[in-house]
Amino acid sequence: MQFSSRERQKHALLAGDRRDQYPHSLQFYLEPPTESIPLVEFESFAVDRLRLLKVVESLGVSYVRGTDTYKSKLEAELRKLKFPYRALAEDDYEARRKDHISHFILRLAYCQSEDLRRWFLQQELDLFRYRFNELTGDLMQKFLEHVNLSFEALTARSLPSIQSDERLLPLLNHLSHSYVGPDYSVQKNTGKISLDQIDALSVRSFPLCMRQLHRALRDSHHLRHGGRMQYGLFLKGIGLTLEQALEFWKKEFIRGKVDADKFDKGYAYSIRHSYGKEGKRTDYTPYSCMKIIMSNPPSQGDYHGCPFRHSDPELLKQKLQSYKIPPSGITQVLELVKGMHYQLACQKFFELTHDVDDIGFSLNHPNQYFTESQKLLNGGRELKKEVNNSGNFQQKNNTQDSINSSSTPTSSNAKADTELEGLEAYFTED
Ligand code: SF4
Repeated sequence: MQFSSRERQKHALLAGDRRDQYPHSLQFYLEPPTESIPLVEFESFAVDRLRLLKVVESLGVSYVRGTDTYKSKLEAELRKLKFPYRALAEDDYEARRKDHISHFILRLAYCQSEDLRRWFLQQELDLFRYRFNELTGDLMQKFLEHVNLSFEALTARSLPSIQSDERLLPLLNHLSHSYVGPDYSVQKNTGKISLDQIDALSVRSFPLCMRQLHRALRDSHHLRHGGRMQYGLFLKGIGLTLEQALEFWKKEFIRGKVDADKFDKGYAYSIRHSYGKEGKRTDYTPYSCMKIIMSNPPSQGDYHGCPFRHSDPELLKQKLQSYKIPPSGITQVLELVKGMHYQLACQKFFELTHDVDDIGFSLNHPNQYFTESQKLLNGGRELKKEVNNSGNFQQKNNTQDSINSSSTPTSSNAKADTELEGLEAYFTED
C-alpha cells in the first residue's frame, strides 16, 4: 500500500494514538477493535490465530502445561506467527494489534454454537495462562490494575448486526470450519495407485473415517450422498484418475441395485463433474477434518463424518477393539474424544496403528493421514506404483513413483466455499 506524506503522517498519528490502547503485551480483550481493516488483513489475522490456537490445543494434550518444552514450543509458534511472544518485549505494537483484532474475529466465528464456544474458550484460556505466568510479579500487578475484571456476556449478541454484512458473514461462518494446510486437490499423485491396491491400503493407511466408508461400500455396494462425496474426493486426492474413479464406482454399484445403464446416465456425469470435466469445471478439493467434523453430520444409514466425532463412544470402542487396538490405547483415544479433541484422538489412533510414539505432525486432513502413513510404512520412501494387476497388493516390488501430497498452501478460505457451490451435483442420487 502506498501513502502520500500527509497520509503517512495521519497514519503515524493514528498509530501513535492506538499505541496507548496496548500498554501491555498481555491483553484482557475488554474492548472490541473499532478501526477499519482491509478484508485481506482480516482474513490473514484470523487464519494465523486459528493456527496458533490449534498449536495450543495440540501442545496442551501432548505436554504438561507449564513445562519448559511446552513453553518453548509455544513461544516459538508465537514468534513465528508474529504475535507478542514475551511480556517484556517493547515496541511490539503491530503484534499487540494483531493479537487484539484476531482474538475478536475468532470470537465472532466461534460464538455460534456451544461446541465451538467451548473449544475457543479452552484454547484462549490456555494461551492466556501461559502468557500471564510469563509476567514478572510487578507486571502481573500492573496488568491486574490495568484491567477491571467486570464481565460482559456473550459476543453472540453482536451477530445480528454482523450478519447483515455480506462480506463478513461467509468468512466468519467458514472460519470455524477452516483448514489451513496443504491443498490436496492438486493431483501430483494421479495414477500412482491401482484399484487392486485399495482394499489393502484402506486397512493400512486410511484414516478411520475413510476405512469405515470403504468397508460400508464393499459390504452394501452403495453409499449415500454424503458418503459418496466424502469418500470420492478422498480417493481422488490419493491419486485415482477419472477413468479409475469411474471404473471403481461402477464396479461396486452394479454389484448392488444400480444397473450399468443407470450408472452411466446418472453417476458417471457426477464423477466427471467432481474431476472438473463437467459443469463449472471446478476441480473439487478433498474434505479437511474440520469440514468433516463440523458440517453435515451423518444420519441413520450414513457412513460419512468423523467416527471420533460422530460415533457413539461405545460403538467407537467396539470398532477399535475389532482393529486390535490395545485396551490402554483405547482408553487414551476415548479420553481425547471425551475432551472433544477429535483430531488428536485420530493422531493417537495413527500412533497406535503405526507403532510410533509421536506422530510428528499435526493432523488436519484425511489425505495428510494417508500420505504420512505411506511415508512411514515405506521407510521414508513414497508409495510405489502397482504394476502388477493380479489383484494382490505388493508392497516390496514395483517402481519408484512418488505419491507425495502437494505442498501448495490453500490460498484462501473463500476458495472452499466457492468449490462447494455445485457440489450438490456430485453423486446427486441417494
Ligand atoms: Fe477422518 Fe480427520 Fe476424523 Fe481422522 S480426524 S477420522 S482423518 S475426519
